[in-house]
Amino acid sequence: IRRGLVQRTKTVCTYCGVGCSFDVWTRGRDVLRIAPERGPANGISTCVKGKFGWGFVDAPDRLVRPLVRREGHFEEASWDDALDEVAGRLRAIVAEHGPDAVGIIASSKCSNEEAYLAQKLARAVIGTNNIDNCSRYCQSPATMGLWRTVGYGGDAGSISDIAAADLVVIVGSNTAESHPVIATRVKRAHKEGRSKFIVADLRRHEMAERADLFLRPRPGTDLVWLAAVTRLIIEEGLADTSFLDERVEGFDAYVESLAAFDLATATRLTGLSEEQLRLTARMIAEAERVCVLWAMGVTQHEGGSDTSTAISNLLLVTGNYGRPGTGAYPLRGHNNVQGASDFGAMPTYLPGYEPIADDEVRQKWSTLWGVEVPDRPGLDNHQMIDAIHAGSLRALVVIGEELGIVDANATYVQEALGSLELLVVADLFLSRTASFADVVLPAAPSLEKEGTFTNTERRIQRFYRAMDPLGEARADWVWLCDLANRLGAGWSYDHPGAVMAEAAAGAAIFAGVDYERLEGYASLQWPVAADGTDSPLLYTERFAFPSGRARLVPVPWVEPTEQVDDDFDLHLNNGRLLEHFHEGNMTYRTAGIAEVTPGPFVEVSEELAAERHIRDGALVRLVSRRGAVRVRALVTDRVRGHELYLPMNGRANEEAVNVLTSSSTDRATHTPAFKELAVRLEVL
Ligand code: SF4
Repeated sequence: IRRGLVQRTKTVCTYCGVGCSFDVWTRGRDVLRIAPERGPANGISTCVKGKFGWGFVDAPDRLVRPLVRREGHFEEASWDDALDEVAGRLRAIVAEHGPDAVGIIASSKCSNEEAYLAQKLARAVIGTNNIDNCSRYCQSPATMGLWRTVGYGGDAGSISDIAAADLVVIVGSNTAESHPVIATRVKRAHKEGRSKFIVADLRRHEMAERADLFLRPRPGTDLVWLAAVTRLIIEEGLADTSFLDERVEGFDAYVESLAAFDLATATRLTGLSEEQLRLTARMIAEAERVCVLWAMGVTQHEGGSDTSTAISNLLLVTGNYGRPGTGAYPLRGHNNVQGASDFGAMPTYLPGYEPIADDEVRQKWSTLWGVEVPDRPGLDNHQMIDAIHAGSLRALVVIGEELGIVDANATYVQEALGSLELLVVADLFLSRTASFADVVLPAAPSLEKEGTFTNTERRIQRFYRAMDPLGEARADWVWLCDLANRLGAGWSYDHPGAVMAEAAAGAAIFAGVDYERLEGYASLQWPVAADGTDSPLLYTERFAFPSGRARLVPVPWVEPTEQVDDDFDLHLNNGRLLEHFHEGNMTYRTAGIAEVTPGPFVEVSEELAAERHIRDGALVRLVSRRGAVRVRALVTDRVRGHELYLPMNGRANEEAVNVLTSSSTDRATHTPAFKELAVRLEVL
């Protein structure tokens, strides 16, 4: 809507997975006001990032022309020249080494349509399944836990269900800072006496302070207390037996697996008391409706998928699926991390989680695209980095992802990026990752393009163009089409809506998704039937397996590989801050936010500060088995004993947590075990 020079445009927040939608008022390129009025996920709420975090859109160092490296230096180039260069070099690499020498890493910065086109470029044009996205860094283990037990890899219900629960259990999530609008819903229900909540975490953050029960297990032992609590519920006759009889398979084998999680073992491993475990079991069993929320504190471990599975097992044993106010809620980190996976930017799944390994599925997509879909499983992000080091992956296209800083063991990752025959990076800025590139493409942020995003509750929402792209920046879907056509694809999409129509024609879970049904503030939560009926609450009648029954899946607890010892004697936890988003490429470029929180710091406990004579504000060096960073110490009671906390918003190698982290990963999904990290601290 335009009024004079002022324009009002509906958009969706570009930051976290809550998916707040609001009107943005602009005059030319100036963002005048953010007005949340009727967002389906957020109502009238936003947090500081959604409300004020838009300065990056007009930052003076935005990329406005393509860059091509010539004799070691970047030179500006036209889009035609840059894309000709990319197409020519890709063709040569494929001709010499085959299509699997190329990989594409999409991200949640892409719209759903852009993620769809990125995977189609990989599969139907280049001929490889080497396509992945940043869910590999965060939530793939949660998805795996849900696939194993209930069938769909998304939240069981809606954010409104979380607010309707009698008890919310929050595990490994600093919800107030990472998903503020969801935290507000939980806090409001609690304040009004409608619900209670339990927090299990290492840090005493805001939600922990407010919780009815705060559990502080030892690092890496969430699976142990979850299994012990489930066992207690069964032993005390508090399981929902009718739900188990009617809707769940595998009970006997699962109960056998719980033999390893007796109270004595659980208290020894977790450091929690018997009383705490019994109280937790009683609170969960006695609540009529329970939701469990979890995030990276659970997933970024070698056993991240197994702990996510243990959460879902607990919900099944207590009958907490398929009713309003119940269910499993892995909190998606980025705004479109759900959609990037949903629309097929994954190495073993086509759009709609349709498996590459299934002949009928491949045949269906091959017919739709008029090209045979390759049957070889692709490499995930983690495997691509190893394949670059091994020399088998020679070209990489990275879309909006700062993997040189956000992937674990950053030095190893950066060495890989620097050794590629061809690295193409599309981004808003000359990021650390882009600094290694051969060709850099200036991307357009969400305010400069149109498309859809999918939030943590599987809700697909449209966002509209509020301003023209800066300089020669282009939406990813536009240059993806141009590149594909240079490689002979013959694509003719004139609008993201045409891309969505094709995805809906192929993927069963999007059958009824179209742009008209998503007009304005309308939204759809997948799966969406052909008549447009969507699914706010899953599993009301059936779980998403052929039998319709859920599965209890035994999972073992395995001690993490990375342990503290005499040389590396402190555990370093890491995560978000309210004000900054990940490496901070957007929020550091927003005046106000950058001043309030100018850089990362390490939280040090009062006990450790006294023991090692660490002053508040002292410059310290953190050293791991991979590298070292220098940051200021913040002495606080949020962390305890020999545990530290380093926010992940370090921008440079000198302060980035991933210079310290290792290459070890979740056993099932290869999500980095960012949270399993031993360091020593040196006062400078
Ligand atoms: Fe909403 Fe998350 Fe954006 Fe904050 S960062 S406004 S909670 S979507």
